Amino acid sequence: MSDCIFCKIASGEMDTKLLYEDERVVVFSDIDPQAPVHLLIIPKKHISTLLDISAEDQDLIGYIYMIAAKLARENGIAEDGFRVVSNCNEDGGQSVYHIHFHLLGGRSMQWPPG
Ligand code: IMP
Repeated sequence: MSDCIFCKIASGEMDTKLLYEDERVVVFSDIDPQAPVHLLIIPKKHISTLLDISAEDQDLIGYIYMIAAKLARENGIAEDGFRVVSNCNEDGGQSVYHIHFHLLGGRSMQWPPG
């Protein structure tokens, strides 16, 4: 998707410090962090929303959670706890229409979320 900011980050077209990259995902810091650790895990494949995940993406989504756990450990937030959030559409609070998984930690989270 030529006009998708996260596709541009994933492809390297937009200069962003990547904290992790492999053939399927990239990870970078959120530009507006909501916690001491706030990373975004995104697939390189453009998928607009959670509603657009298809059967062929099942393995990818599980893989993203595995990467989230790895990064939680590497960033020292695994033991105390952390949150993985994916917002969908307007009421869900989605602002970038390329699926992404917020990895948040380093502080106590509230429930319910705002
Ligand atoms: P959403 O609101 O759940 O869709 O999350 C989108 C997130 O992307 C927000 O937390 C933004 O702060 C973040 N964001 C938007 N543009 C950039 C960027 O260029 N670099 C890093 N994070 C970004």
